[in-house]
Amino acid sequence: MGEKLFGVIGDPIEHSLSPALFEYVLRELELPYRYRAFHVRANELRDFLQKARAEGIAGVNVTIPHKERVVPLLDALDSQAQKLGAVNTVASEGGRLIGYNTDVLGFTRSLPARGLPLAGERAVVLGTGGAAKAVVYALIDLGIHEIVLGNRTLPRAEQLAMQVATRTGYKNMHCLMLHDLHTLEAIRQAKLLVNATPVGMHPQVGDCPVSDPSCLHEDLLVYDLIYNPQKTRLLKEAEKRGAQAIAGLDMLIYQALESLRIWMKGELKFSEALIRGVRHTLEARLGLR
Ligand code: NAP
Repeated sequence: MGEKLFGVIGDPIEHSLSPALFEYVLRELELPYRYRAFHVRANELRDFLQKARAEGIAGVNVTIPHKERVVPLLDALDSQAQKLGAVNTVASEGGRLIGYNTDVLGFTRSLPARGLPLAGERAVVLGTGGAAKAVVYALIDLGIHEIVLGNRTLPRAEQLAMQVATRTGYKNMHCLMLHDLHTLEAIRQAKLLVNATPVGMHPQVGDCPVSDPSCLHEDLLVYDLIYNPQKTRLLKEAEKRGAQAIAGLDMLIYQALESLRIWMKGELKFSEALIRGVRHTLEARLGLR
């Protein structure tokens, strides 16, 4: 690992889009850094971070399954990472490794203006994993009135709601089974629906996390965090009913750009043209264009 290096660690890591994304951005912004994917297993994490510290690696993205495991191995966390208990960005600052979480901001930045404001509205979030957690914290920051959490395993939803209440004081969160009729009813009355489960992801493209899509309606913004395929069955069903449909690629792009902003310690500006270019690069990489 040399000086001018960023990277991503995960297990597995070979399908990560981050190298293609960052290589494009670093080249376009003429930043003299390289970006590499490192296959790091759980038992290698501590050694990797020690090596990163010793060799002055400038920044590391952390992906599945290490986002929570990495926390105790760092010197400090920023407030967002602390709140989530998960880190997706590590920056080396004066020889110390600091953990950040840019997934929350990545989601917020990727919301279209037409879906905002969310203050006073109801959102339904499907799933309770790392991605759902980032979405929930983002929605609370945006002033959402009520969050309904739909999950296949109800106790996991209840656990997340309790954690959120303890860490933020937000109490207006209700937990339901994913396929409960009340979940469909909640979607009927919601302004935003977020799918944070892998249901509908390649290659299971015929699957839909909503058991009866007739609950989708034209005043709804349907955000599917899946980015392969770009248009999931859920998004197709949403569009059929006049709802606004958003795919997950932009969240991926914005969380990455926020990592770079942290690493470069400055006011990097990301133009619309740059973001369009990243989108095209990733779509080509995924075979979507
Ligand atoms: P995760 O931590 O593994 O969470 C998975 C969640 O999905 C859990 O709530 C799980 O329910 C539920 N689930 C899994 N398989 C299911 C099934 N067959 N039927 C119903 N529910 C199921 O995963 P994650 O990291 O949060 O990622 C979730 C999704 O978001 C993935 O599709 C991922 O690609 C996407 N994502 C996108 C971005 C982005 O930037 N666009 C970022 C992160 C993740 P149980 O609790 O019952 O197991």
